[in-house]
Amino acid sequence: MLSNTEIAKKLLEIRTLMEMAGESFYKYMAYEKAAASVENAPPLRDLVAAGEHLKLPGVGKSIGAAIEQLVTSGGAEQLDLLYQRFPPSLIEVLGVSGIGTKTAAMLFTEYGIASLADLEAAIAAGTLTSVPRLGSKTIENWKRGILAYKGRQRRTPLPQALAIARQVVAHLQAGPPLERLAFAGSLRRAEVTVGDIDIVCTSQHAADVIGHFAQWPRAEAVLAEGPTKASIWLSGGLQIDLRVLPDHLYGNLLQHFTGSREHNIKLREYAVRRNLRVSENGILNLENGEVITCTDEEGVYAALGMQFIPPELRSGLDEIELARARTLPVLIQSADLRGDFHMHTTWSDGDDTLEAMTAAAAARGYEYHAISDHSRGRARRFGMGADELRRQREEIAAASARYGIRTLQASEVDILPDGSLDLDDDVLAELDVVVASVHTATSQSREQMTERLIRACQNRYVTILGHPTGRRFDSSRGYEFDYDAVFAAAARTGTALEIDGQAARLDLPAPLARLAKSYGVTLALDSDAHRTGDLAAIEFAVGQARRAGLGKADVLNARSLDDVLAFVARKRNAA
Ligand SMILES: [Zn+2]
Ligand SMILES: [Zn+2]
Repeated sequence: MLSNTEIAKKLLEIRTLMEMAGESFYKYMAYEKAAASVENAPPLRDLVAAGEHLKLPGVGKSIGAAIEQLVTSGGAEQLDLLYQRFPPSLIEVLGVSGIGTKTAAMLFTEYGIASLADLEAAIAAGTLTSVPRLGSKTIENWKRGILAYKGRQRRTPLPQALAIARQVVAHLQAGPPLERLAFAGSLRRAEVTVGDIDIVCTSQHAADVIGHFAQWPRAEAVLAEGPTKASIWLSGGLQIDLRVLPDHLYGNLLQHFTGSREHNIKLREYAVRRNLRVSENGILNLENGEVITCTDEEGVYAALGMQFIPPELRSGLDEIELARARTLPVLIQSADLRGDFHMHTTWSDGDDTLEAMTAAAAARGYEYHAISDHSRGRARRFGMGADELRRQREEIAAASARYGIRTLQASEVDILPDGSLDLDDDVLAELDVVVASVHTATSQSREQMTERLIRACQNRYVTILGHPTGRRFDSSRGYEFDYDAVFAAAARTGTALEIDGQAARLDLPAPLARLAKSYGVTLALDSDAHRTGDLAAIEFAVGQARRAGLGKADVLNARSLDDVLAFVARKRNAA
C-alpha cells in the first residue's frame, strides 16, 4: 500500500504531466496544494476508509477520487490517461536545469525524446542543433544540466563529503575576507549521505568570493556563476553550491537552505495558520504586512513562537510540535562524551600501538577508553586469545598510568554464526567491557541473523553490540534482521547498541538509533578507530545520535566511569 508521501509524489506527477499537457495553472496547482496537505495528513488508508480524505484542505471531488484510487490500487485513472500522452520517463528530463514543462513536451512530441538517455543521445548525435529555437548555448547549458542532474542522483557518504567541504572552506578562507560561513543542506543536518554540498557565507566582497570559489583547482567544471551564487562540479560527481548571503537575511536564508524540504513545508504550513508567511526573504505578517528579517536562525524560530530546532532534527517528523511545546530533547554533544569503547591497536588490525592510541585518547580529554582488539576468530590470522589478552593487560596498566586516563580492556569479540562468541565466558569475565560484532557469515537468512544477534545479547558478558547492521558504504549492504526483536532483546538484557562512527560505517544510522531508543536501549557512540587520527570519527556517531534525538541519558559513554562499570556489572550479575 502506498504511503502518504508516495501518494503525494503521484499527485505531483499528475500536476507536472497536466502542465505539460497545457492544462490551466489553477487546475494543475490544485494538485500541488493537495499533495502538500496529503503529506501532512494522518495515514490516507484510514481517511479513505472513513471517507474523511475529502475534508483535507485542497482536496475536492476529482482529486479525492484520484486519492481513493491510489490508496486502493496504487494507480489512478487520470495518471493513466496522462501516461498515454507523455511517458513517465519524460519527467526526469525536467530535472535538467533550463528545461521546463513546455520544452520537455516539445522535445517529446517533435523529436520523440522520452527520457534523459534519449536527450543525451540526441545531443551527442547533434540532432538538436537543427532546432531553430535552440541555440548552441542552450544545448551547452543542457549538457551541464544533465551532468548536475546525474550528480544529484548519486549520493556521497557524509564523512567523504565533509572532508571535501572542509577543503573548500580552507580554500575560501584563503581568499577575499568572509564574515560568517556555514554548511547548509544535508551536510549540516548530518544525513548519512549527501546529494550535494551547500555552503553559505556573508561577505562585503560577494563577487570576489564567488570568483575565488569558481577557481578552486579541484573543480572539474563551473556549472553556474552569478553575482552571489555559484556551483562547481568535482570529478566523481559531487556538486558544491556556494551562496553569498546578505547579512540582514542570513538567518532566514540559512534556515531555508538547511532544509529539509519536509521540515520547511511543515514549518510554512504551521506559520500560515498563524497568519505568517515564511520564505527565504523573511517572515511576512499577513495581517499587517510587516516583514521580519533575522540575522540569525534562532530569530526565525523565535519569531514563529517556538524553540530553536537543531539542524539534525529538521526531518519533518515531530520536531515542530515538540519545539512549540518547548519539549525538544536536549541533544547529546561531543563535549558530553567521557570516553570511547571501540578502538584497535597493533595487537590486532590497528595501525598504531596501544601506547599511541592511549596517548591520543587522553589528548582528546577522555576520562576513560577501551582497547577493543579483535578476538582471534577462526579465519583471522591476527587477534587476541586468552594468552594475548593476559599479556596485553600489563601493557594497558603501564600506558594507562603514563597518560592519566583509565584504559579499560575490552575485546571486539566475533559473534559466531550460531550466536555464540569467539571467546569463552571465563576469558570474557576477565575483561572490563565486551563489544560483540558480526564479521562473518553475513548472508544468513533474516531469521537466523535475528536469532544470532538475540543470542549474543543474552550473553551476560556482552556489553555492546558493535556496528549492529553490518553495512558499509564501500562494500556491504549489511545483513537483515528483525530490528524490533533484537532491540527489544537488547533492552531486556541491558545490552547497549553501538553507533559506530567509522567513516565507512555510521552504524546504527539515525532512524534505527531512534527506534532503539524507543525500546529503552542505551547507545554507545564509538570511533572504531584503527589509527590515532580516526578517533575523531566519533563525531559522526554524535551526528547520528543527534539526528536520532538522543540526549546524554541515552548514551553510555556520556556517563562517569563508575556508572559505566555499574552498567556492565548489572548485566553480569542479573539472574
Ligand atoms: Zn568490527
Ligand atoms: Zn572494530
